[in-house]
Order: sequence, then structure tokens, then C-alpha cells
Amino acid sequence: MKSSRAIKKGEEGENLIAEILDKDTSYHRLINNLVLLGDNGVSHQIDHILIRSNGVFVIETKNYYGLISGKEDDSFWTRSYFVKGKVKKATFHNPLKQNQSHIRAIKKIIGKDYPIYCFVVFVQNNSVSLDFFNACDARNLLQRINLLTSEKELSNGEIEAINGLLLAKEAYLNTESHVNNIKNAEKSRKAAQKEIRAAIEKKICPKCGSSLVLSNNELKCLKCSYKIKF
Ligand SMILES: [Zn+2]
Repeated sequence: MKSSRAIKKGEEGENLIAEILDKDTSYHRLINNLVLLGDNGVSHQIDHILIRSNGVFVIETKNYYGLISGKEDDSFWTRSYFVKGKVKKATFHNPLKQNQSHIRAIKKIIGKDYPIYCFVVFVQNNSVSLDFFNACDARNLLQRINLLTSEKELSNGEIEAINGLLLAKEAYLNTESHVNNIKNAEKSRKAAQKEIRAAIEKKICPKCGSSLVLSNNELKCLKCSYKIKF
């Protein structure tokens, strides 16, 4: 399990990337922190989805220190950093592979007619030794996204439709926060998603602390009435 410090750092990184993506001056929709359920009960926790005329961009944020290195087909990538004058290395799952499963889940929802691109962005701007177009530093992200052209441009209507399809499929709580969350407030949506992510990771009911059980596209608490629907 991730330490609370690692989670906090991850969140800070996600907020920073959300700010960068929101500066996109073209017509767009941005969904941050979307939780979807895949076929076999696997949850997909997607950091950012930017929907704009040249496609749907699925973006995974990494807020790691050290110099990042890795190859496309590697299962693990490495980050190298100095501790007291010595080089230390740590590995992490290849985020491009992680993102491929997110993309399959998204294709199931929006269909195959739209161009979907995956990106991995490094908040600390330390990806200089990676040689992929779609794994880059935070400072280059919007520029790279702009460089991609698609044969068929998405209309504003299509952008709205895709945004609606994805939000309709997100996991939600059977509480008022879901109602608020449709009505407006990205803020309450974010708080609800945070609660869902934590519950999914631990399979513990946030209301009473018993175990949550997965059945019929629901994470259900057998003790109280608490439900997370997918
Ligand atoms: Zn409960």
C-alpha cells in the first residue's frame, strides 16, 4: 500500500497537471480523477482525460524524483537519484502499459470511432532520457498534445458527448454527493471520487468499517446499506 506521503505527493502532482491542462485555449473538456470499473471488477483510476478537437488524451501523472529511464516494452522503469553522494535506483511499473488498460476501458465506453492517445507526464520535468513522444515532462505536455493531428476532427458536440458518456459511467456513491456532483461542483465530485478510490483500494466501508463485497457492478457493505455503484 502507498504511504500517505506518497499519496499526497501524487495528489499535488495531479493538481499541477490539471492546472496546466486547463490552460488549453482550444475548445475542450477536462475530466480529472475518473474512476471506472472494468470487466472483471478491476477499477481504473484515471488521472486526467482531455477531450479536444484532435482527440481524447488519457494522461497518467507521475510525481517521482530522480532521472527516469525505461523502454517501451519493459515491465518496469527506473528512477535514479543521489543519496549522500551515492546513486540509488528504484523501479516502478511501466506507466505506458498501465495506461493501455485504461484506454481499453475507455474504448468500451466511447467506441472506436475517436482517436485516443495515452500520455505519461512527469511533474518533476525529469524524463529527458525517455525517448517516447507520449512520455514527457510537464512543461512540454500541451505542446506535444497540440502537435498531434487527426484525420477527422471532433466537433464541439462530439467533445460534449464523449465527456457525458465518460461521466455517466464513473463509479459513484449512493449519497447526495452524487447528486451534487452531477449538478455542478468539480469540488464535490473530486471529494466523492477520493472516497471511492480509498474504499476500492482497501475494500473497506467508509461508513461503518466492515468489508465491502463486489457483486453485480456494486461494491456493497453487507453490514450497513452503503453502496458504490459502477
Ligand atoms: Zn458499512
